[in-house]
Amino acid sequence: MKTYKIAVIKGDGIGPEIVNEAIKILKIAAQKFNFTLHFEDFLMGGIAYDLTQNPLPDETIAGCLESDATLFGAIGGEKWDNLPRELRPESGLLRLRKSLEVFANFRPAKVYNELLEASTLKPEIVQGVDILVVRELIGGIYFGTPKGRDKNRGYNTMIYSVEEVKRIAHIAFKAAQKRSKKVCSVDKANVLDVSQLWREVVSEVAKEYPDVELSNMYVDNAAMQLIRNPKQFDVILTGNLFGDILSDEASMLSGSIGLLPSASIGGKAAIYEPIHGSAPDIAGLGIANPIATIASAAMMLRYSLGEIEAADAIDNAIETVLKEGYRTKDIANFGAKEVCSCERMGSVIAEYI
Ligand code: NAD
Repeated sequence: MKTYKIAVIKGDGIGPEIVNEAIKILKIAAQKFNFTLHFEDFLMGGIAYDLTQNPLPDETIAGCLESDATLFGAIGGEKWDNLPRELRPESGLLRLRKSLEVFANFRPAKVYNELLEASTLKPEIVQGVDILVVRELIGGIYFGTPKGRDKNRGYNTMIYSVEEVKRIAHIAFKAAQKRSKKVCSVDKANVLDVSQLWREVVSEVAKEYPDVELSNMYVDNAAMQLIRNPKQFDVILTGNLFGDILSDEASMLSGSIGLLPSASIGGKAAIYEPIHGSAPDIAGLGIANPIATIASAAMMLRYSLGEIEAADAIDNAIETVLKEGYRTKDIANFGAKEVCSCERMGSVIAEYI
């Protein structure tokens, strides 16, 4: 029987609640599809700072590197907001991504038919939307040097090498081959030199994937098109800054932040996590929506462990549960037959696997 090691980082706020539900589902999927999962807990974020004075202890990096994948909840909270920047929970997460060299961030934005009304856009605009944003995660303006500030100036550098663009482009084209075979590369090539290089390299890489159609779009237009006609997109390939903004915009097409998963892959290890934060306003109340984390666990099975059947079973169970009218509080206004706690939602999904 295949055995996999999973590093678990529950983190802060609702992190422990939602990760516990994902683990519940993973255990059931493993049983049903005949593989074994070993979970080991590691610290990151505010809780790690409280216990070790370090938001990312070395053991956590080592644990993630030694595992087949990392399942992560969320970190952060007001309690730690006034710490020096390098001790804040968010710095721990940025450092983890950098240490694991996870350069590709996958953010699917899929609209569930049962929740069309949850979107702020008209149902006919969002029905059938199924977008995958592939964002470069460890380069670009967030990491480029020189950067800094003095009293009169602040500055950052947006920089990409040919190699950095090539490797993320390959990932995006390969993902598109398994979907609707379209890549839209988003840049600002009319203004930025770094984007001109980006566009040239992506066009070169595209020649190796003749079955995938490449289009290029300026980021300002992409922001508009995502609202005007989101169905035109399949895979959106973009850099760190533009991807940060566009993936948040795309996530709102689906209506609730509690539904959307993500994967950070491509380097020495892989991290799977919901797109939302630690939701301190609802932490401990048992009302968080665990679906984003459970869907992240399904992505983990699909992309890191190759357990496709188990991943499909989880995705199908989520759809069925929504179809049957089970809702957590955040989506309770849209066709609820039963309003569930976080724990109950996990159990209902488990029943449908
Ligand atoms: P947030 O995503 O935590 O919450 C935004 C709103 O959405 C809140 O009203 C929250 O209750 C709600 N929400 C989020 N997830 C939900 C879920 N699963 N079910 C139901 N409702 C949910 O964003 P924020 O409030 O801006 O940030 C809170 C903290 O999280 C901050 O410290 C921030 O730095 C941190 N954060 C962490 C990550 C991460 O760990 N990857 C990402 C974003 C923000």
